[in-house]
Amino acid sequence: MTRALILGGTADAGLLAAEVARARIDAVYSYGGRTRAPADQPLPTRIGGFGGVSGLVDTIRGEGITHVIDATHPFAAEMSRNAVEACAQTGTPLIALERAPWTKAPGDNWIEIPDVAAAVGALPDSPANVFLAIGRQHIAPFATRPQHAYTLRFVDPPEAPLPFAAEVIVSRGPFTFDGELEMMRARGIAWIVARNSGGDGARAKIDAARTLGLPVIMISRPKLPERLRVESVAEIMQWLGHRTCLGA
Ligand code: NAP
Repeated sequence: MTRALILGGTADAGLLAAEVARARIDAVYSYGGRTRAPADQPLPTRIGGFGGVSGLVDTIRGEGITHVIDATHPFAAEMSRNAVEACAQTGTPLIALERAPWTKAPGDNWIEIPDVAAAVGALPDSPANVFLAIGRQHIAPFATRPQHAYTLRFVDPPEAPLPFAAEVIVSRGPFTFDGELEMMRARGIAWIVARNSGGDGARAKIDAARTLGLPVIMISRPKLPERLRVESVAEIMQWLGHRTCLGA
């Protein structure tokens, strides 16, 4: 009997949950609990950390999980590493649903750097309007460059004071090319800091930056251990042993 654990939190994980539910596969969907009102899923859902590798091992054993699907964000490295380790310890098959990173197109002006610290260092010294599109857990180091006027965008309004003065846009997205263009023009954005998340949902800002000729400081993905990895829901369904009519 198959009983899958979907480590979720992304739009792709939602598409997978819909397909798994349609195929009537027994599964649990897990959210990390980062957003206040996560989207409903058509599967039994749990929210919050497992308690590290040992907690995930206990969940896999206690819940009778036979397959683990890591459909977390490409920057959720801790969860992904824990999944590799817990699946190795329990002998549970693991697969990652991970969209391809964006690649540079003609006209892109990217400064590719490995992490947030390098992104801080890549900003110019003279004051500029900066769109920091990187998620609230990572903004603190930019307090060391207070000469810039920052625009931030979060899914939920900030609960605690920000580490520096900034304009905050609260929006869940998805964001359109026209909307991003308008936002960047209206705020006179001159620099963008982004993570190479890949996928279509977050891509509009990259396309808008190209159109406006703006530099993008692009943070590369964290390195993860070797694991089976595919880019489509259809491949996950095949891995689970089910036929699917999905083309993607
Ligand atoms: P993380 O740093 O890899 O995970 C930290 C801990 O959170 C994990 O060790 C685990 O706690 C718990 N956790 C994470 N995902 C979980 C899940 N699906 N189910 C249960 N527990 C989970 O990941 P993160 O904190 O979620 O985020 C890392 C980065 O990815 C952030 O920069 C965030 O902005 C980004 N992100 C983006 C999206 C998006 O859709 N745009 C979604 C999620 C995350 P335990 O060790 O206690 O098990």
